[in-house]
Amino acid sequence: MNIKFCNQCGHQVKYEIPPGDDKVRAVCQSCQYIQYENPKIVNACIIEHKDKILLGKRTIEPRAGYWNVPAGFMENGEATRSGAVREVKEEVLADVKNISLFGVYNIVQRNQVHIYFRAELTGEYFAAGAETSAAELFAPEDIPWDQLAFPVGITALKRYIQERKTGNFTIKEEDIIIDYKLLNQYDIPSSE
Ligand SMILES: [Zn+2]
Repeated sequence: MNIKFCNQCGHQVKYEIPPGDDKVRAVCQSCQYIQYENPKIVNACIIEHKDKILLGKRTIEPRAGYWNVPAGFMENGEATRSGAVREVKEEVLADVKNISLFGVYNIVQRNQVHIYFRAELTGEYFAAGAETSAAELFAPEDIPWDQLAFPVGITALKRYIQERKTGNFTIKEEDIIIDYKLLNQYDIPSSE
């Protein structure tokens, strides 16, 4: 119940089930325009370089001060892959190559779908970018699991590290079930 006003005419909306529908929607009480709310897509990228994984330290809430793979909300006009590449560029100032789909993670309780890619660093350069205070390569055994920002990232990284031992990477679709005590951890803000 987040929407208060019609984005077409500015009049107040009311949450109700429109005729012919079976779900509650934000319906404008003046022009009858229906504002549908749908899941948001987050694109993320696990980046490997010389047997290490590149993480960025967040400077923004939620989970400021915690590490994460580059990730963020998809923008209009981009594809999932180009969204992930853009997030890498913004958060760790890096370019990536050999990009492959790795996983699709549903966070139903937060109405989010996270698309994870895996990739390799192009060249040697990376650095902390916007919304990041540090960028660092971690050997798998040195990843600070208790300082990672989001369970979805932990889930993806754990499988990545497992699968990279044999080099047999798979693509999986998984549901991330939220512990309600940690609910606010799943609110990844959109990157401006
Ligand atoms: Zn309206």
